[in-house]
Amino acid sequence: MRIRHLNCGTMRPFGGRLISGNGSVLGQARIVCHCLLLETDDGLVLVDTGLGTEDVRRPKALNPGIRTFVRPVLDEAETAVRQIERLGYRAEDVRHIVLTHLDFDHAGGLRDFPHAKVHVSATELDAAVRPATMLEKSRYHAPDWAHGPDWVAHEASGERWFGFSAVRDLPGLPSSILVVPLAGHTRGHTGVAVETSEGWLLHAGDAYFNRAQMAPAPSCPPLIGAFQVMLQADRAERLRNVARLNELARGGKVDVFCAHDEVEFDRAAAGTPAG
Ligand SMILES: [Zn+2]
Repeated sequence: MRIRHLNCGTMRPFGGRLISGNGSVLGQARIVCHCLLLETDDGLVLVDTGLGTEDVRRPKALNPGIRTFVRPVLDEAETAVRQIERLGYRAEDVRHIVLTHLDFDHAGGLRDFPHAKVHVSATELDAAVRPATMLEKSRYHAPDWAHGPDWVAHEASGERWFGFSAVRDLPGLPSSILVVPLAGHTRGHTGVAVETSEGWLLHAGDAYFNRAQMAPAPSCPPLIGAFQVMLQADRAERLRNVARLNELARGGKVDVFCAHDEVEFDRAAAGTPAG
């Protein structure tokens, strides 16, 4: 299986290193949407979609607070479908999408792949289509799934993976791709683990936001730390999972990265073969 790391949506909030840990506090931070493209024997699998072509063409449909403060760059060339086309594939070649959760910056590209089966946790799907709290009612962007995706909802199965519970045997996917429940950021948030010839990697989604949270003495740039608190569905679960991920990352057996850290993305993408 060939694995490519794609940034499917850059965001440029003001706050510099208070957000990303890099650069001046007066500058713009660079936030990426780290997605994976897995080229399997049975077609393409996309892990998270980033922003989609609809977001880029009609940004006014996005939440005004996001446009003002998170400041997505909205470059169509960064969308997953355009990057996949540049690699010589068609949108229909993406047979499966595995989502960490359904926030707009992870599910925005769903509409570009209407033929794909979309694997998501049953809890997350419920949170998005039947939002129960003020936060759930405001965070999800229903147009992302107004086309009626071919959902495949999964539930925790009690299997174990490096001490975490895991969902194996996702229908139609190789056994080297599994889902790891990591609730906290959203009600049904998950990570996605992939076994490669060099070992396991874990896309931790938004279970954490900055590489410093995985360091031996964990810390977090203050503005992105406040943002995590503002968007958390369950504080205790989020903090418990950050601590478990820190332990996993430092154990050295699994390459752990999150969705939005630019340094983690650049390091991973540098190892991606040119397409
Ligand atoms: Zn996100």
